[in-house]
Amino acid sequence: MRRLRSITLVLALVLGLTGCSAPPADPDTAEEHVQFLAMDTVMTLSLYGENRAEALSAAEDLIRSLEAKLSRTEEDSAVSRLNRGEAVELDEELDSLLSLAAFFRLATEGAFNIGVAPLASTWGFTTDHYQVPDPSEISRLVKVVEETWLRDSPEGHVLEPGQAIDLGGIAKGYAADKLAELFREREIPRAMASLGGNVLAWGNRPDGTPWRVGVQDPARPDDQSAFAGILSLKNAFAVTSGGYQRYFEEGGRVYHHILDPATGYPADSGLTSVTVVADYFPGESFGTLCDALSTAFFVMGEEDALDAWREDWSRDVDLVLVTEDGRVVITQGLAESFTLDEGSGYTLEIVS
Ligand code: AMP
Ligand code: MG
Repeated sequence: MRRLRSITLVLALVLGLTGCSAPPADPDTAEEHVQFLAMDTVMTLSLYGENRAEALSAAEDLIRSLEAKLSRTEEDSAVSRLNRGEAVELDEELDSLLSLAAFFRLATEGAFNIGVAPLASTWGFTTDHYQVPDPSEISRLVKVVEETWLRDSPEGHVLEPGQAIDLGGIAKGYAADKLAELFREREIPRAMASLGGNVLAWGNRPDGTPWRVGVQDPARPDDQSAFAGILSLKNAFAVTSGGYQRYFEEGGRVYHHILDPATGYPADSGLTSVTVVADYFPGESFGTLCDALSTAFFVMGEEDALDAWREDWSRDVDLVLVTEDGRVVITQGLAESFTLDEGSGYTLEIVS
């Protein structure tokens, strides 16, 4: 049996988001809302403030133009051209995003690697024609992925034949960073953006309390009101990676879309989801950081993820790890802002 679950609102059941708007006369509490499909997921934006209507349409335009630029299914995108083996002059934005991706690859010892594209294709995750590939093909592609680096050439950047990149593990977090800048420039006082598992909680809720962002219970993916717990967030990013977000079943086994570049198979690390949380700081790229790390930590598993977090990332981000054996492990910085859903059956551990 084959099956796809498209990523829906994942983190983003924003409790109390609707139905609490004051009369439109008060721009600080009146809400402008849109939902659309982009980057292969459902996106929801809710904006407040004087400039909410024009900012909302600018925000949607921004996401659509990033989608066109970063997609590997749009034939004309720079990424597609690179993947066809063409030499491409990268513009500043793509150049710096690809440099960031290379940095995250090194910093996560290869757990995050945009070069997984040929593997993702052979598993069918780009075309929705899922299959469990032949083990020898997987081993061959693991080597290809390992050797995938963009090279400089006189005509621009270039990949070797057979190599390809996929920005799916980082693009939505990058889009969240760009949205935050747009909200700041347009003086949006409060907003909630949910980009398929990537949430930006901007300002406070209209009643002055923090936004409430649900961490989906990975064990109950079909029930979008089933949470492992709730995060209270203000001016922050929360990005979740989970096997339940996209998968298929074959021969009684589940195969999901987050691949371990070291094995070529879907990561099987004992985690069912990873949420990475960071505060917004102007000019920083913490949405992108959260996105790359959520994918990488999901691949690494609890022990290695926490070791890496302690060593390199504990000043910038906090984590919610949901484990296969029924625990929710949060890092100390979230002790006040994470509330376990008592009915979920998970036990809570706080680590530092
Ligand atoms: P995310 O939902 O952010 O964890 O990203 C998952 C998406 O990133 C997948 O659908 C692939 O497009 C891509 N991907 C899968 N495995 C990896 C990996 N190990 N490193 C980087 N990107 C990946
Ligand atoms: Mg990611």
